[in-house]
Amino acid sequence: MVVILGAGLAGLSAAHHLAEADCVVLEREAHVGGLCRSFREQGFTFDHTGHLMHLRDPEVRAWVEQLLPDGWAQLQRSAWIHSHGALTPYPFQANTAGLPLEVRLECLMGFVESLATRSERAPTVPDAQVVDPRWPFLKVAPPPAADEPTFHDWILRTFGAGFARHFFEPYNTKLWRRDLREVTGDWVSWSIPRPELGDVLRGALTVNEKPFGYNPEFLYPRAGGIDHLPRALADSLAPGVVRTNCEVVALNASAREVQLADGSSERGELILSSLPLHTLARLTSDLPDDLRAELGALDAISIRAINLGVRGAPTSDAQWIYVPDHAHPFHRVGLPAALTPAMAPDGHHSLVAEIAFHASDDPGLDAHRQATHDSLRALDLLTSDHEVVLEHSVDIPTAYVVFDAARRRLLPRLLRFFLEHDVVPMGRYGSWDYLAMEDSLLHGREAARRILQERS
Ligand SMILES: Cc1cc2nc3c(=O)[nH]c(=O)nc-3n(C[C@H](O)[C@H](O)[C@H](O)COP(=O)(O)OP(=O)(O)OC[C@H]3O[C@@H](n4cnc5c(N)ncnc54)[C@H](O)[C@@H]3O)c2cc1C
Repeated sequence: MVVILGAGLAGLSAAHHLAEADCVVLEREAHVGGLCRSFREQGFTFDHTGHLMHLRDPEVRAWVEQLLPDGWAQLQRSAWIHSHGALTPYPFQANTAGLPLEVRLECLMGFVESLATRSERAPTVPDAQVVDPRWPFLKVAPPPAADEPTFHDWILRTFGAGFARHFFEPYNTKLWRRDLREVTGDWVSWSIPRPELGDVLRGALTVNEKPFGYNPEFLYPRAGGIDHLPRALADSLAPGVVRTNCEVVALNASAREVQLADGSSERGELILSSLPLHTLARLTSDLPDDLRAELGALDAISIRAINLGVRGAPTSDAQWIYVPDHAHPFHRVGLPAALTPAMAPDGHHSLVAEIAFHASDDPGLDAHRQATHDSLRALDLLTSDHEVVLEHSVDIPTAYVVFDAARRRLLPRLLRFFLEHDVVPMGRYGSWDYLAMEDSLLHGREAARRILQERS
């Protein structure tokens, strides 16, 4: 039997692709979905936080599309950035028209200078490498060489000093909660659009219609709430495959045996784990002492979402707005009703303020709430015409894994330890990576296919 830990998208996908093979999914919570979940109250629906589906793999697209009976809405991105008192379209680097002239000039000058020196200081962030050819979806870049550009260097080399000062540095220090010289650049290749000079110039003069980045179009459940996806996925599995309220409290990797909170245990010929890797490692009784001593190297950023249900019409038709200015506590505000009207009752809309914090610097919910209300008013997203009728908050303790040198030194050793014992970490936090929903589904699929291939 294959024992799958966690009923998020990676775990459910693995169970689906194992099809008739004997498997069980053990999930701590009372419901499936993991991070891909939604909260509903008084006619409002909030995800943890906005979850938009962008798909590259045709097979995953066909599978995911047929799973939802009410279907998916295909949406064009409407994402904006609030800075220097103006709202400009995402991405900042291709859309500075509307910003003060001095800001635009500084960005353009810096970008042109960065182009002049780019060839002699070519960014040399190495590609991630497969840790074990048996499980090719697990990849980590080698430990950084002394001259490898940090994320801070990468920003300067790629966009120049003006874009760094006016967007990338403030936005990213707000998100990563540290000096960007401590962050490595091995996660940026797919997530940050790199426009050409012509696009940057055009965007400084006029509205840039060109779609940039990985998500100019995306899907979202028409019925409202991303949890429709994992729920449909779980419903498509054979009865009894998914066991909720089953918390894993210990793992013996050598025996491939997990202990559950109710005192029972499960043993597998192979274990697929989507638990956060640092959690899995802490639960592992036979983890070598040297690895255990280094587990603190796997650092993560937490997200606190402050969700507001609001009576009255929104003041913006954006789906979400990035807020780099440190005067405001949040780095992003979502407006879920702009995705589908099903997210809020008639005559209402909702706001989701996303605040990044580190476990060591959390000022507490009350401080974040107060600052959020003040800032939403300062940004005109809450006005005297609005009444907040619902307030709810959610913490995601492990939301963004920190990309740094310590991660790249420890991660391959930790993954190899588990893989040698046929315990296969997968999914966003199992692989300790920056994965979108589709990537997590793909991890589950690839892991299952490898198992079936080896059996045949
Ligand atoms: C703020 C934020 C916004 C995001 N937005 C997007 C987006 O717009 N689009 C997109 O594509 N992706 C987005 N993502 C990424 C997406 O959420 C993930 O890629 C995906 O949901 C991860 O699925 P998973 O199965 O790998 O992990 P998880 O969802 O974390 O699943 C792991 C499961 O393990 C369970 N578990 C944990 N401990 C135990 C235990 N001890 N015993 C048993 N079970 C346990 C958990 O309850 C959970 O169900 C976002 C992520 C974050 C943090």
